Amino acid sequence: MQSKLPAVGTTIFTVMSQLAADNDALNLSQGFPDFDGPLNLRKALANAVMTGNNQYAPMIGLGSLREQIALKLQRFYQVSCDCESEITVTPGATEALFCAIQAFINSGDEVIVFDPCYDSYEPAITLAGGVTRHLPLQLPGFAIDWDQVASTISARTRMIIINSPHNPSGALLAEADLLNLQQLACQHDLIVLSDEVYEHLVFDGNQHRSVLQYPALRERSIAVFSFGKTFHITGWKTGYCVAPPALMAELRKVHQFVTFVAVTPVQQALADFMAAEPDYPSTLANFYQAKRDQFCRELEPSRFSLVPSPGTYFQLLDYSAISDELDTEIAVRLTRDVGIASIPISVFCEQSLPAYYLRFCFAKQAGTLTQAAKLLCEI
Ligand code: PMP
Ligand code: GLN
Repeated sequence: MQSKLPAVGTTIFTVMSQLAADNDALNLSQGFPDFDGPLNLRKALANAVMTGNNQYAPMIGLGSLREQIALKLQRFYQVSCDCESEITVTPGATEALFCAIQAFINSGDEVIVFDPCYDSYEPAITLAGGVTRHLPLQLPGFAIDWDQVASTISARTRMIIINSPHNPSGALLAEADLLNLQQLACQHDLIVLSDEVYEHLVFDGNQHRSVLQYPALRERSIAVFSFGKTFHITGWKTGYCVAPPALMAELRKVHQFVTFVAVTPVQQALADFMAAEPDYPSTLANFYQAKRDQFCRELEPSRFSLVPSPGTYFQLLDYSAISDELDTEIAVRLTRDVGIASIPISVFCEQSLPAYYLRFCFAKQAGTLTQAAKLLCEI
């Protein structure tokens, strides 16, 4: 049998979390909090299940949740969205990304992505018959080289995928980036798929810029969000996407036959919680910045150097003063021998990165971070 995805193995997140479990190591690899989401949200889920919200939701998502999403978009980005035609609730951001790619990529179409690049994009492009064009982000700072983008765009280019705040580096796109993107996307009639799952995890007074805030860009964009990050509930696998009606109609043609709907009681609980605590997401920046700062402070005596992380809940550590091993090798060794698991970021790159970085997730309780820093300081 010929594989449709010959180059794809098991995702690094599963590999490293399994290795951490097998070795009883501290798991700072796969990105998820080691604490629960808000009590009232969990109570709302229990309540939703106990009060009969257990059958299929509408295909596009519960109306009450889509209304809350529209209010949230207004509150945080000052944009108005039509709940019926522009918002779809999905079982995680991953499904929205997959559906967007299947809906718009035809055989031979090219999609530009930026390395290091989240690992779900390329397999989805390949399955659609598309061709992934990887452009390296520029070090230091993981910036997009827009001249390179301009010279890579051809008649076959159909889509550009951006991700800000960026996993794994934490880098943020600036106003100038969004304007460059807007100009190129309009000039070449491209679709933009904007992965904004870490929208609220932005530090040091920076702000997240959504494609939805740039009218000409919004007309040709699908913006993707995840409740998993915003409410510390990655295991609830619920997200949503926002796109203009014509694009959304095409995306929904795929969504209805991939999963059909997201889980009903989870949607009800989210709608109830967002109505009661609409400002909850604005607490996240300070909350996670304190965690990042604790982790970085406690790592000061270590031999790692810290790569500034202005967003997400990931911190890159440069291990070049410690070893010249490949990141894939050292990540496994540290998990087995030192008892701490991280993510090697070369797996997100087509070409080897001219740097030695491991990614650590700091969405952890203070005690976990202290324990992790202690282990890392001994290396
Ligand atoms: N995009 C990025 C950049 C991510 O880090 C993640 C990780 N969870 C996702 C998408 C997927 O989000 P979800 O769990 O909601 O599918
Ligand atoms: N997005 C998470 C990360 O980057 C993992 C999600 C997954 O395991 N699929 O760690």
